[in-house]
Amino acid sequence: GENSAISVAVRVRPLTQREQQVGTKCVVSLSGKEILIHHPHTNRQLTFSYDYCFGSQNPEDKGYASQEVVYCLLAQPLLDKVFEGYNTCLFAYGQTGSGKSYTMTGYADEVGIIPRFCKEIFWKVNLTQQEEEKHHIELSYFEVYNERIHDLLSSKDANAKKKALKVREHPILGPYVTGLSTYVVGSFADVQTWLELGNKQRATAATSMNERSSRSHSVFKLVVAQTKREHLEGEAHDHMLVSHVNLVDLSGSERCNLAQTSGLRTQEGASINKSLLTLGKVISALSEMSQFKRKCFIPYRDSVLTWLLKESLGGNSKTAMIATISPTAAHVEETLSTLRYASQARNIVNVAKVNEDSNA
Ligand code: ADP
Ligand code: MG
Repeated sequence: GENSAISVAVRVRPLTQREQQVGTKCVVSLSGKEILIHHPHTNRQLTFSYDYCFGSQNPEDKGYASQEVVYCLLAQPLLDKVFEGYNTCLFAYGQTGSGKSYTMTGYADEVGIIPRFCKEIFWKVNLTQQEEEKHHIELSYFEVYNERIHDLLSSKDANAKKKALKVREHPILGPYVTGLSTYVVGSFADVQTWLELGNKQRATAATSMNERSSRSHSVFKLVVAQTKREHLEGEAHDHMLVSHVNLVDLSGSERCNLAQTSGLRTQEGASINKSLLTLGKVISALSEMSQFKRKCFIPYRDSVLTWLLKESLGGNSKTAMIATISPTAAHVEETLSTLRYASQARNIVNVAKVNEDSNA
């Protein structure tokens, strides 16, 4: 196995038009790999450092990063790992409105990481496609809302769709979703068709239920299998490499704060965002384990999302996180909590290994 720490980036969203009109002040500034927060109440300056810090207000600003730059620095290194047979994962964490979906999916012409990643996968596949090397790529796309899994690509009728899917654990391949639609894709155009459908279903579900867009997690999953034919002493051997790719747009982090949720013991209490809370506990336990080199119990199975991402977090995967924040004084507490979360994630060291299988 190859040790690799989770690489962590922070991206600051620009001020909205409205915020600019009313003269909202920014409390966040960037300096290389450091991010400085000027706390508006205490007047203190806090510094955090990450693998990358991305700004987005003006292209002239120090640290400004376009969609393309963010993709190249954070996601492209993972793409190379896919072709080496490693599992990879990239997830976006941050409060609602801070730019998670902008980063992962993008809006209109400002294409985000998921489509860029898929496009480049096929670009690479087409470069290497030859007799001796075959690729098989499958995708699925689902949402986790209130601990229930909803297929975003289901072709079933509305009634069948309402049924939540279950998580099972395969002894070798690990946790998976039963009954989830998976589609073989042969080109980037195929991917786009499914992405459009999935995003549309996501938006429809969100408008019929107000809170859903901020409280659901979406997972876009690819399985990339490569078969290489090798000739050894006149005999042909097929050598297979498999990589599982999880690209995750997490729910808004604003309710993840334990202090804010512990008061909720009513009907709604049952629907506190268990997956996000558990993700926090998993990250904190893994961080402690890596820092102090001691065995800890990691509560992966306490929530649907952490169970499904078990290998991506503290397991067999090359993983990156992008934490998105707002630059305004009004959001400073939420921003600080996101930055602390991101700092913890930086301590996690995964042990990734190539998933290979050889048969004559
Ligand atoms: P989230 O998914 O975290 O709730 P969104 O990605 O939907 O937030 O972003 C909220 C709004 O802010 C959108 O209109 C989006 O276009 C804009 N936005 C967020 N981040 C950026 C950025 N880095 N550059 C430009 N616009 C951004
Ligand atoms: Mg979003």
